[in-house]
Amino acid sequence: MAWPALAAPQASDKPGPGAWPTRVFTWRYNPQHAPAWLSAEAAQALMQRAAEPWAACGVQMQFAGVTDLPPGKMDRSNVAGWSLQMPRQLRGPTLGQAKAGRLLERDVLIRPDRREFERFPRLLQKVITHEFGHAIGLTHSSRCDDVMTLAADCPKVHPRQLPLELTAHDLARCHAIYPPQPQPKPNEIKNTP
Ligand SMILES: [Zn+2]
Repeated sequence: MAWPALAAPQASDKPGPGAWPTRVFTWRYNPQHAPAWLSAEAAQALMQRAAEPWAACGVQMQFAGVTDLPPGKMDRSNVAGWSLQMPRQLRGPTLGQAKAGRLLERDVLIRPDRREFERFPRLLQKVITHEFGHAIGLTHSSRCDDVMTLAADCPKVHPRQLPLELTAHDLARCHAIYPPQPQPKPNEIKNTP
């Protein structure tokens, strides 16, 4: 596979490149090339767990099962999985396509052979959560403690203590793309007889 040219990653607090119009991100998991040190069950559970924090933003992270479609192939199917087809220095990019502010596809690719992930599975989980953030349209944050920070492991934070939940700032940046939906007022709720 030819590697698409990557723009140098930058921290910015600009809004994301787009959003899922229905607030649903439906994705499948491809278990191929999972890290040898993880069981198949643990690898899949880790992926699913890492997607969950974004539900707090009001986006449904809908897991649609296992697939053999390769992550990184632009086929209008959202696939998260493992890949060695990336520059060595990358932990895991998110690739996709968007049109007129709408996301059409987002594939999450995680490099399975990094020793740091085996030493610190928490770092791996945080990297995956970060990539799912890109998958729903977020860009990088300039704040070091955010999940969406450019550096997954900020200086001074031991990988064993990395936060796995979204910060208030992560959530605010996500809500800029997916504004909180107003709850219906009590007098608007109809009672069914
Ligand atoms: Zn990133």
